[in-house]
Amino acid sequence: MKSLRFDAYKSSPELVETGRPVPGPGEVLLKVAGAGACHSDVAVFTEFDEEFGPAQLRPSFTLGHETSGWVEELGAGVSGFEKGDAYLVYGPTGCGHCRACSRGQDTYCENAATMPYLAIGLGRDGGMAEYVTVPARNLVPLGDADPVAAAPLADAGLTPYHAVKKSLPKLAGGGTYALVIGLGGLGQLAVQIISALTGATVIATDSNPAAMERAATNGALTVDSGPDQAEQIRALTGGRGVDAVFDLVGIAPTIELAMKVVALQGRVTVVGIGNGSYDWNFYGVPYEVELTSTYWGTVEELHEVVDLYRAGKITPQVELFSLDEAPLAYEKLIAGELAGRAVVSP
Ligand code: NAD
Ligand code: ZN
Repeated sequence: MKSLRFDAYKSSPELVETGRPVPGPGEVLLKVAGAGACHSDVAVFTEFDEEFGPAQLRPSFTLGHETSGWVEELGAGVSGFEKGDAYLVYGPTGCGHCRACSRGQDTYCENAATMPYLAIGLGRDGGMAEYVTVPARNLVPLGDADPVAAAPLADAGLTPYHAVKKSLPKLAGGGTYALVIGLGGLGQLAVQIISALTGATVIATDSNPAAMERAATNGALTVDSGPDQAEQIRALTGGRGVDAVFDLVGIAPTIELAMKVVALQGRVTVVGIGNGSYDWNFYGVPYEVELTSTYWGTVEELHEVVDLYRAGKITPQVELFSLDEAPLAYEKLIAGELAGRAVVSP
């Protein structure tokens, strides 16, 4: 079968002929329905090397950590799955038995440092292929929902969902405001998730006008990145500021913007891995503002994300690519030319 492989640091991924994988004990072989292209993959193949980046992300492996598919074959000891049923893949793979893993939070596995890989598609072979093997505990049922469009939910849905859930106390009640900075794969779903879970008014910004238009169709008020951007955002909140900011870019200027517009006792969650710095000062920000980062989400939360999808409350906008076009999907992602999350559908 064909697989899109990350084969060497600082080089573009390439389509390679590989053998069809065999599910090990406790694993399920999926025939891939869709695999989303996430901007984090770009960091893996453009920024990391022997010195910088987790050891678990050493080449080579098959990309694709946002995967859906149909059950094809069961490994030893696995039961309760029907061939042909559709599932979404929870990517993170912890040890499975520490406290964090026992609550479904493999992202914060206490034994992560000694694990051979971070996730399916991040160290372990992922979904940019015709078939992928997955531990049975990482499978979330999709029922009769479209599995191809569901693929981005595994990360572009789950990551903002986790961040929004942690910010819910800030967005409760009426008259609250949320700001989403960066309206790509994650950002478009962040706008929809905030609207699905809260009564907050959503403000959205992106350096790309087309991305802002898409967010506006999902009900967000948009502000472009002009010189008086912070003033404009504050004005939309009646001067009070934003209760919860989600920065899906994470470079110094976007964190700075977030901290400029956040309300007293508000919360800023940096999701984007732009690795920007911020010079905190006691007098520089309103009292009790929280500035935090986040990483992906829990398997239980992925079940909740699928519930929202099946109820029609969130819908990933996708641009489809064949497996042969998978390199092009990443090229368009890097160039900012996508009209939705790129999903490779073999
Ligand atoms: P994407 O490329 O689909 O979207 C990024 C968006 O940000 C684009 O619309 C782009 O125009 C916009 N943008 C870029 N620079 C900007 C700026 N200075 N101001 C305003 N907008 C700007 O990327 P994505 O896949 O949605 O990922 C977003 C970020 O989240 C990436 O950094 C990715 O690595 C990160 N990520 C983090 C986690 C996590 O667990 N923390 C999980 C997945 C992705
Ligand atoms: Zn663990």
